Amino acid sequence: MKKITLLALVLASFLGVSQEDKSVLRTIYTQSLTNGKSYDWLNHLSNQIGSRLSGSLGAEKAVKYTKEELEKLGLDKVWLQPVMVPRWVRGSKEYAYIESQPGKTTDVNICALGGSVATPALGLKANVVEVKNFEELKALGKENIEGKIVFYNRPMEAELIQTFQAYGGCVNQRYKGALEASKYGAIGVIVRSMNLRLDDLPHTGSMTYGDLPVEKRIPSAAISTNDAELLSTMLTLNKNINFYFKQSCKQLPDVQSYNVIGEITGSEFPNEYMIVGGHLDSWDLGDGSHDDGAGVVQSMDVLRLLKESGIKPKRSIRVVLFMNEENGLRGGKKYAEVAKQKNENHVFALESDAGGFTPRGFSFDCTDAAFSQVLSWKDLFKPYLIHFFEKGGSGADVGPLKTESNVLCGLRPDSQRYFDHHHASNDTFDAINKRELELGAATMTALVYLFDKYGVNPITKTSEIKK
Ligand SMILES: [Zn+2]
Repeated sequence: MKKITLLALVLASFLGVSQEDKSVLRTIYTQSLTNGKSYDWLNHLSNQIGSRLSGSLGAEKAVKYTKEELEKLGLDKVWLQPVMVPRWVRGSKEYAYIESQPGKTTDVNICALGGSVATPALGLKANVVEVKNFEELKALGKENIEGKIVFYNRPMEAELIQTFQAYGGCVNQRYKGALEASKYGAIGVIVRSMNLRLDDLPHTGSMTYGDLPVEKRIPSAAISTNDAELLSTMLTLNKNINFYFKQSCKQLPDVQSYNVIGEITGSEFPNEYMIVGGHLDSWDLGDGSHDDGAGVVQSMDVLRLLKESGIKPKRSIRVVLFMNEENGLRGGKKYAEVAKQKNENHVFALESDAGGFTPRGFSFDCTDAAFSQVLSWKDLFKPYLIHFFEKGGSGADVGPLKTESNVLCGLRPDSQRYFDHHHASNDTFDAINKRELELGAATMTALVYLFDKYGVNPITKTSEIKK
């Protein structure tokens, strides 16, 4: 019996799973589930502050609030990093209807896409052309599109298990739809909301005009999935129906804002930085609880949980709350730019920006050596039902920190319900489950603990020492 235990221990340590690590992870998860702060912080961020679109009063309040909360944690440093951000405002609520014959109208739910121009003050009314993609647009050509409203109606693919893939397969119609349609003389664009279910909520999100001159910029709005279905059905019955919409959004001059940063300085390698983060800005329709209030408060709690669990990191651990991920990525770019100027060695960066749902694991953008090290930790995560460890993308804000040797990663929560809420008015605090949020914070903390303890790319390091 004893022999077997010993053998198991030897095997476990060979596999990188030590008893110490097991008990540290247990402590981290217990702390998060019994004494976590993420849910309280999110409650304040969502219900007291609300939406946090870049340049808005909400964003400004969120900077102040999160800085003050980080200051209460007794970190080694907390500071604001200035960054100029775009300021787009929605204006009064959008209005739209389908006109099947003169005087016979059906109201539909739309919202302007972020960055879009307004319609004329009295709105815009025209015939509609439905397309599924840019190829169909091209095939129709100017003769069929000029003077009309283009309606992009390609649904997210239901059969994809990872819903972010379905999003990736669709989002170009939202992001570049107006830019492409404008080339053929369209006067407006309506895009099916990026939502897997059928409901009445329009989902906003960023769009671009690229280099289009101002006079070629056409208004662009999202329509709810139910109304996209309705419009499509009505078009099959009568190609000549009109669509009317009115929106009064506006792009204002850039304003000063900030990334919020806190740090526990490393005890052995203070010049090696490991960061955890989410984005502090949100869209304006809901209160941004899932996108990305959840990632913000989880990242804040990582540093607190390390302290509460008695872990003294060897490397410097930072929480970075990025500003302006949604409509510009200015915060992520600024952070990487300053890191480069200061020659800071960022060995690891973890982002949580996929909702506050039950964590499943992580996606890694790293070397094979670092990834096999991660795989050796799989058993440690098993008790917490964390099993998804794949190579892939990380997150938009940490992306600019990429080097040949560092580890970038993203928390991967269950994504089945995420797009029910993403960028819509129901991305609100009541859609957050406290335990799921806390499990995410603990899972992130556990990964940070392990990478700090064992280092990033250990194989490369050993060979360097041998030289
Ligand atoms: Zn986000």
